[in-house]
Amino acid sequence: MNIDIVATTPFNDQKPGTSGLRKKVAVFQAPTYLENFVQAVFDTIAAPAGSTLVLGGDGRYYNREAIQVILRMAAANGIGRVLVGQGGILSTPAASCVIRKHGTCGGLILSASHNPGGPEGDFGIKYNTGNGGPAPEKVTDAIFARSRELASYRIIDAPDVALDQPGSSVLGGMTVDVIDPVADYAELMESLFDFAAIRKLIAGGFELCFDAMHAVTGPYAREILERRLGAAVGSVINGVPLEDFGGGHPDPNLTYAHELVEIMYGADAPDFGAASDGDGDRNMVLGRGFFVTPSDSLAVIAANAALAPGYADGIAGIARSMPTSAAADRVADKLGVPCYETPTGWKFFGNLMDAGKVTLCGEESFGTGSSHVREKDGLWAVLFWLNILARRRLSVEAILYRHWAEFGRNVYSRHDYEALPADVAAGVMAQVKDQFAVLPGQRFGGYRVKFCDDFS
Ligand code: MG
Repeated sequence: MNIDIVATTPFNDQKPGTSGLRKKVAVFQAPTYLENFVQAVFDTIAAPAGSTLVLGGDGRYYNREAIQVILRMAAANGIGRVLVGQGGILSTPAASCVIRKHGTCGGLILSASHNPGGPEGDFGIKYNTGNGGPAPEKVTDAIFARSRELASYRIIDAPDVALDQPGSSVLGGMTVDVIDPVADYAELMESLFDFAAIRKLIAGGFELCFDAMHAVTGPYAREILERRLGAAVGSVINGVPLEDFGGGHPDPNLTYAHELVEIMYGADAPDFGAASDGDGDRNMVLGRGFFVTPSDSLAVIAANAALAPGYADGIAGIARSMPTSAAADRVADKLGVPCYETPTGWKFFGNLMDAGKVTLCGEESFGTGSSHVREKDGLWAVLFWLNILARRRLSVEAILYRHWAEFGRNVYSRHDYEALPADVAAGVMAQVKDQFAVLPGQRFGGYRVKFCDDFS
């Protein structure tokens, strides 16, 4: 194996955020940009020679090219084995599942989540550690520091690895195992949920619609919902991952998942609707003509957790991000388990999970998850809902009304403003914050402002 050590000059903008390094595709396509960042990751994690790494992405534009580069670099950096999803596909939660199940030294996930894809869109790369979760800040800081002093990267000269069929091949001195991207994940889901009860529900005429938004969850949803659980073929819409997500914006909310929303609010709507985002970690849940807020979804899942076999022994606690409504707190109170309020960012949930303090977690930005992996998990939430519906035999709407009757209701509102000039956005936020001093105690109609809270 001939390792090329290629001289390079550092970039100064390779600072990963909580979800990795995200840039325009054109930035990643610039000569040595991807190579530099990947080398900085390998240098930082310093995996022992012969280690195993997981590799896959959400199928967006540049996914396949990047995977070939990363494979050649992994071989040159002493990685012994790479588990890569067939076709270069691995949803973010599935990658977390594979990392944990196979005890690897972590994985590289290629995604920019719900950001638009295609040649003009975004690309991203994220390193997850051996616990299956996003690298903590000390690791991403070290990667950034390394990227700023990088003088060379290592790569081997080899032809592309065939990615479209499962199987094993050798690249330099490294084994490349192309794995079924769905198998390990589906097996984990079957261990957590009552598939027999869901199958029975569906066989009895229950109809569902899952919008994969031409992103990564299509193959997962088709295998699990249609093949294993018996939902009618066609229940999964937009199920083929496309490099540009079909020109859409794979963000599961009422604005971007409008095709699903029209179906669920239309005549002859199915009983249940759901959507997931670009890399499969977020979810939106709908009943017939009824929207479940992410905050309520977490609360309902927590209140009904014992109905799912994987959670029948009880939950250790619940965590929610600060802007998420306190609906979950009410459930935690009743269950007699702690509820933690965290800053925004999934790593804080992972922290609590690794410490055994929480089982369930969620945030208002359409993310829900549990300790089964160390990422939020869209399809997991959908299956949890189906498990609850199969056991309770009520409509989504009826479950929510009964939940509110039992626990009380927390109403909240989220506003998204996209692509605003930064100074205008800062002005809006400043104006809101300026009112914090005077708002508490004021009355608006029948309501009094109890407190104003800012994230810190
Ligand atoms: Mg995402």
